[in-house]
Amino acid sequence: EQDVAEYRKSLAIRVSGFDVPRPIKTFAEAGFSVELMKAIAKQAYEKPTSIQCQSLPIVLSGRDIIGIAKTGSGKTAAFVLPMIVHIMDQPELAKEEGPIGVVCAPTRELAHQIYLEAKKFAKVHGIRVSAVYGGMSKLEQFKELKSGCEIVIATPGRLIDMLKMKALTMLRATYLVLDEADRMFDLGFEPQIKSIVGQIRPDSQKLLFSATMPRKIEKLAREILNDPVRVTVGEIG
Ligand code: ADP
Ligand code: MG
Repeated sequence: EQDVAEYRKSLAIRVSGFDVPRPIKTFAEAGFSVELMKAIAKQAYEKPTSIQCQSLPIVLSGRDIIGIAKTGSGKTAAFVLPMIVHIMDQPELAKEEGPIGVVCAPTRELAHQIYLEAKKFAKVHGIRVSAVYGGMSKLEQFKELKSGCEIVIATPGRLIDMLKMKALTMLRATYLVLDEADRMFDLGFEPQIKSIVGQIRPDSQKLLFSATMPRKIEKLAREILNDPVRVTVGEIG
């Protein structure tokens, strides 16, 4: 226990919540598939970043998480890698049944970046990723979603549009990520986020990541998440 405390301190990590798994030191400790380990190596990710060391074992154990770390700290892989594992753990289901992993991001640029990162890791297991955001033809997106995917990366407004158009259902969704929650909140997406959370199975695993944690976001997180572990990297939060 003393060792774990020392190790967290060396990573500039603080945690709160009950039964928090110990942080890992290497990607090998996460128990990823051979294929995922190869994809990680291909990215030249030698070892997990601080947020990844602590959040990977938490999320892989099925817990909800509030992750607070500044931009550039590797939050994307912290939610994408466990999402792939989560999807591989699901029983086979008809492709018509909609995404298993749903990621919400504030802007189309961010959604696109996450899409690119997710594809690198998803493809090794034949997992299909779709991106859904404003500025693209709704008809094209409708068609793409109808053709089936396991992961959707979306801006909240466009995801709601697609749900209304019945381009996808949330019947199969059990892993929800709210990325850059502070910016989504600043952009006024709180009602859309609440609507999306209301349409996903209540027992879904939920992850909320943010660079800052103002009181309003903390309140939203506590409303949405179930017994989350809170992880803060550095001086923020
Ligand atoms: P954040 O979402 O926290 O702003 P990103 O997920 O966009 O950060 O990651 C920032 C950069 O770090 C990206 O270029 C990403 O490819 C890289 N990166 C992520 N994880 C690692 C790692 N374990 N080792 C080295 N680079 C990494
Ligand atoms: Mg990010």
